[in-house]
Amino acid sequence: MKAIRGATTVLKDSAKEIKASVKELLEKIKDANGLAEENIICIMFSNTADIRSYYPAKAAREAGFFNCALYSSLEPEINGALKLCIRVMVLAEIGKDAHHVYLHGAENLRKDISKRLNIAIDGPAGSGKSTVSKIIASKLNLLYLDTGAMYRACALACIRANVACSDSESVKNILKDVEIEAKNVGGVQLTYLNGEDVSEKIRTPEISMQASVVSAHEYVRVKMVELQRQIAKNNSCILDGRDIGTNVLPNADFKFYLTASDEVRAERRTIENREKGINQPYSEVLQEIKQRDKQDKTRKIAPLIKAANAIEVDTGKMNAEEVAEYVLKRIHERI
Ligand code: C5P
Repeated sequence: MKAIRGATTVLKDSAKEIKASVKELLEKIKDANGLAEENIICIMFSNTADIRSYYPAKAAREAGFFNCALYSSLEPEINGALKLCIRVMVLAEIGKDAHHVYLHGAENLRKDISKRLNIAIDGPAGSGKSTVSKIIASKLNLLYLDTGAMYRACALACIRANVACSDSESVKNILKDVEIEAKNVGGVQLTYLNGEDVSEKIRTPEISMQASVVSAHEYVRVKMVELQRQIAKNNSCILDGRDIGTNVLPNADFKFYLTASDEVRAERRTIENREKGINQPYSEVLQEIKQRDKQDKTRKIAPLIKAANAIEVDTGKMNAEEVAEYVLKRIHERI
């Protein structure tokens, strides 16, 4: 069982306002937590002493919450307290973490637990972005979006169509009719190309290199960035990539830029490859990483660059857990 918290404010003390605000608050709590009414055990309200026209619990009953226990109480008059405020605690049977909902004048009451968070993690290949982002997403209950996977899917579409990833016109022709989707299934991102799950197929060294080539075209970036922003707009999320802090989410709440020496990154990638059954020699991986960095850093549109307000983290001497712990510490300092 989880306790979901929330609050809202009314413009004036009238039955109509209270009924509408309670309905809106409870519907948003249901949506944010994927709740069905049978999951709700009880709903407890309290309201500030300036609300006297209607019981929030009665408003909840009228809004269709028939089967759970309902309760309202009046808060004492406290100097400086938010005016015309209704608070709620919903006890519900849910397996996942609770999503708290604070609306209108109450929006800033508990920013730490209710605010929509966008976190940008940028850096070159092998800097640890995806492993660290997955740990943070799981700890903060955020959606994780690996934006590199989307460019990889673009490269795969071009390779399958026998089109050179460097040929901007042909790439555009192929990609205009291609559908790329990133779906989060149980905390794991699956990448789809025209409905086919290509999550594994896009992890080859050839696709890594071609993704870097294809991602330089304006058409490709505009299409992918639009998809990424759409996902970020509707969710608290952590996005990893090359241009998240500078271009995709310039107003992200937190921006981190991960780095490590070329050698450390190549070593990590060689081990990762080996675990996937790809036996590419270290020297080749190192050379490809250097070439990819050069391409990503020197392209005209949205190159790989540290955003001015991003926190740089050298991950060379830390493991992923340590980097995630450091990033989380910096986040918690500000929320
Ligand atoms: O992160 P990953 O190695 O999967 O990215 C593959 C390629 O996709 C990168 O080398 C880069 O060229 C491109 N990319 C990008 N912008 C992003 C994410 C990835 O240009 N936000």
